[in-house]
Amino acid sequence: MNDLPILTCANHPDVETSLRCNRCGKPICAKCAVRTPTGYRCKECVRAHQQSFDSAFSNAHWYDHLIALLVPAALSLVVSIGVAFLTLFVWGLIVLILAPSAGELIVRLTQAALHRRRSRTIYRLAAAGVVLGALPVSLFMLITGGWFILIWEILYLVIAVPLVYYRISGIRLS
Ligand SMILES: [Zn+2]
Ligand SMILES: [Zn+2]
Repeated sequence: MNDLPILTCANHPDVETSLRCNRCGKPICAKCAVRTPTGYRCKECVRAHQQSFDSAFSNAHWYDHLIALLVPAALSLVVSIGVAFLTLFVWGLIVLILAPSAGELIVRLTQAALHRRRSRTIYRLAAAGVVLGALPVSLFMLITGGWFILIWEILYLVIAVPLVYYRISGIRLS
């Protein structure tokens, strides 16, 4: 008689195996084992690990996503009105000089409003908010034929949107 206990897969009682999950120790067959960088694990442990990873990254509340969209949108609305006035009464080129500062201001105020909470979607929402905020003035110019102002609005967005996107996502632009 063989007195060694024969392991059978926890999910498939008729399948003999020598594999165990290296996290919970449950016997698992080749079909149930998931290869991870730290060894074989059962599907339940892989899923539990994935969920704890996701929740560690996303410490944002549902209203943070609203803040992440609406704060940049409100600020961008003000900036886009400023762009129209500067183009009309001062000098269009000044938009190119001021757009990075406007973008930086939007980043700072949005981060302050979010208290540094972050998630995968927040920087995308912030970038979308910048576009959203510039839409009313841009559409108005499009309808009324204010092409000259519209061009500067677009240039403002070309500069500010990537800046807000990368700064809030934490990627440094050199
Ligand atoms: Zn396990
Ligand atoms: Zn199995």
